[in-house]
Amino acid sequence: MIRKSLIIANWKMKLSPREAFSLTRSIVPYIRVAAGARSRNSFVICPSFESLSCVGMLLKKTPIALGAQDCFWEQSGAYTGEVSPTALKESGCSYVLVGHSERRLYCSESDSMIAKKMAAACETPRLQPILCIGESLAIRKKGTYRSYIQKQLEAGIALIPRTKRVQFCVAYEPLWAISTMGIGLPIGPEHCAEVTTWIKTLLSQKLPGAHVRIIYGGSVDSENVMPFLQRGVSDGVLIGGASLTVRSFKKILTVLNQ
Ligand code: PEP
Repeated sequence: MIRKSLIIANWKMKLSPREAFSLTRSIVPYIRVAAGARSRNSFVICPSFESLSCVGMLLKKTPIALGAQDCFWEQSGAYTGEVSPTALKESGCSYVLVGHSERRLYCSESDSMIAKKMAAACETPRLQPILCIGESLAIRKKGTYRSYIQKQLEAGIALIPRTKRVQFCVAYEPLWAISTMGIGLPIGPEHCAEVTTWIKTLLSQKLPGAHVRIIYGGSVDSENVMPFLQRGVSDGVLIGGASLTVRSFKKILTVLNQ
């Protein structure tokens, strides 16, 4: 079986429904080609909540999956403004980002909230959470990034039973590499490989029944995407800024097709 890399576009809160619809309509024909039968890649688009239905409509009958950018930890109840994992699944989502650094920063999402979200998403059939973790530049400079990431990882999976056969992704996104938060430069593939290999080892001890893909995110574009997709470096990439225009998204697809 071909090992497929996961290419995930995170559109953040950058596009209105009209803009998300238009970008999806323009880019789907190119992604369809890039995701063809012999492709080494599979694709996910994560628009904001209000665009899920219009983007989802365009993704129907395509090989491109729909993802959300967040979910709540309960499946229903008096939680004004929140969206449950079950509601996301019913809206066509197969993936959901959990604990993105922007949510940790601007919405004060704590490790315990993220753990509950992870557990709720993992309990939802055919919905895969993508747990986002990563250290700040200060922590990287101090050299304590391994213990920091380990703490975030262990907190994020704390409520998943050890032997449960769950499927999820971990996105390693050093804050300082995210285009809008840091210095806007990706880390090197060697550094990425070191961390993803180590995360894999930790997870095989903590959750031996889990099937987990470890992807990388942070200033990925057409110029630097390929080294991150090499075996042993990561199982895919999470792309923010470079997935927001037809031109830059197409450039990435062109590189992936080569
Ligand atoms: C992100 O927001 O998850 C991200 C990786 O953004 P960018 O690609 O713009 O750095």
